[in-house]
Amino acid sequence: MARVLFINGGSEGHINPTIGVVQELISRGEEVVYFCIEAFRERIEKTGATVRTFDDQKFIKAFISGGRNYVLERINGLLLTADIVIPSVLEQIEGEHFDYIIHDSMFGCGRLLAQMLKLPAINSCTSFAQTKASFDSMLEQFHVEVPAEIVKPINDTFLSLTEKVRETYHVEIHSPYEVFCNPATLTIVYTTREFLPEEEVFDQTYKFVGPSISSRLTQENFDFTAFKEKSPIYISLGTVFNHTIDFYKLCFEAFANTDHTIVMSIGNKTRISDLGEIPKNFIVKNYVPQTDVLQYAKLFITHGGMNSAHEGLYYGIPLIVIPQSADQPIIAGQVTNIGAGITLHMQGLTAQQLREAADHVLSVYSYKKAAENMQQSLRKSVGYVQAVDEIFEFVSQH
Ligand code: UDP
Repeated sequence: MARVLFINGGSEGHINPTIGVVQELISRGEEVVYFCIEAFRERIEKTGATVRTFDDQKFIKAFISGGRNYVLERINGLLLTADIVIPSVLEQIEGEHFDYIIHDSMFGCGRLLAQMLKLPAINSCTSFAQTKASFDSMLEQFHVEVPAEIVKPINDTFLSLTEKVRETYHVEIHSPYEVFCNPATLTIVYTTREFLPEEEVFDQTYKFVGPSISSRLTQENFDFTAFKEKSPIYISLGTVFNHTIDFYKLCFEAFANTDHTIVMSIGNKTRISDLGEIPKNFIVKNYVPQTDVLQYAKLFITHGGMNSAHEGLYYGIPLIVIPQSADQPIIAGQVTNIGAGITLHMQGLTAQQLREAADHVLSVYSYKKAAENMQQSLRKSVGYVQAVDEIFEFVSQH
């Protein structure tokens, strides 16, 4: 039995795929100590892991204070979380032995902790993996396209923050890539090679294990009887970029007087009462057990988060992707490429366009067929089982 240090942050999309992995590790005899924010304690504890937390308010404040407009600002935000995460983790594991570390690809300063603790490290990547070359060329665009007077202070902040990390924790940061992607000797990516954008070439240290979809282990009070028989359209913009009251009202307008039953998850930033009168054929919640709802759905209108897109396809459901930010435009492109859905743009979207798009995707069989083909491909391996096979193989060599 090995002791595993698992480092994550506070984002649903980065936590969910790890639940099956942790359960699988524990079922094969490992002991897991899992760091995240308090909100995920219950979910992770049910896996059998020991949960330890760091201050979520300070963590989120530090991350956001780096700025949200450019990727290098978000990298600065990640660096600013170092002083919240690292001392807290070190204090809580003092005197304990760990055999290896698994860390999120973005949150929790995993690469820094792995270096400080000198542990074999595994990167848990819940988005598309990025090689250094592709990341650098993306960052190059930022330097070329954004005016120098904006770039310079952000870059200066990056340099002073990396210097501060070096002085405080005695670890080097060689590039923004290291902070944003936390590369490690093994990277587990929760998608298949088939779903990747074509240009990227990955070496053998990247293992594409497929989606890691398992029971969320939450006790939600959710009544399925209202729509179980009705094959609903499910609408959600995920858990981050979801504060979009106008969009939710547009959905009301699009589908109110139709025969469709609609389940709509609006996230925790919008109050249901702010949406006005809810049409009779809508079930609106702040949060739903998404993977359970999807099992009954006929169409998923999604922002195209990595998890949501995979979960929809895992159940063979065609998608309408309305990307909001981050990697979502790339995922929307992939969904369109494989023919499992279409992309719509939030800007200028009308209720009529949305309704017509839904009718189109539902009436043209090829979308459903392509989603079912993808379903078969995604189900060839069980993501979390494959992930743990790869982890064990890696650990046996280190
Ligand atoms: N989710 C859920 N219920 C909801 C909304 C979201 O269970 O009402 C889950 C969803 O199943 C997915 C995650 O939250 O696993 C969202 O991750 P994703 O990568 O799709 O988007 P993000 O929230 O990171 O933008």
